[in-house]
Amino acid sequence: MSDNWEVIPCANCGVRFGISSDLLRFRMKDGCTIYCPNGHTLNFKGEADKVLNELKKEIKKLTKNLETVEASRDSWEAEAQRLLQNFTDEEFLRTTTKEITKTVKSVWGHLQNE
Ligand SMILES: [Zn+2]
Repeated sequence: MSDNWEVIPCANCGVRFGISSDLLRFRMKDGCTIYCPNGHTLNFKGEADKVLNELKKEIKKLTKNLETVEASRDSWEAEAQRLLQNFTDEEFLRTTTKEITKTVKSVWGHLQNE
């Protein structure tokens, strides 16, 4: 047992009172009730559950965002794959051959004009 004390406010009447840190930590863990000097009950379990629920909601939201990002990445990858497949080797060669033929014709034309 340490000699540390926490000063906490009552959620009902606002009175601040001291409680040993060990007892506070223990009560937060086991969820049992603490009473303020005016007799109000302070239940930390509800508080912890609220925080936990909020965190769970946040995690669910983030997971959903991640799924959306991954889905859009997947669709971009599929689109890139589709474009690559459309651009076949045959097409590439045909285009290149056309370009070369044009260049050769143009050079040939220049040579004949000289
Ligand atoms: Zn109180």
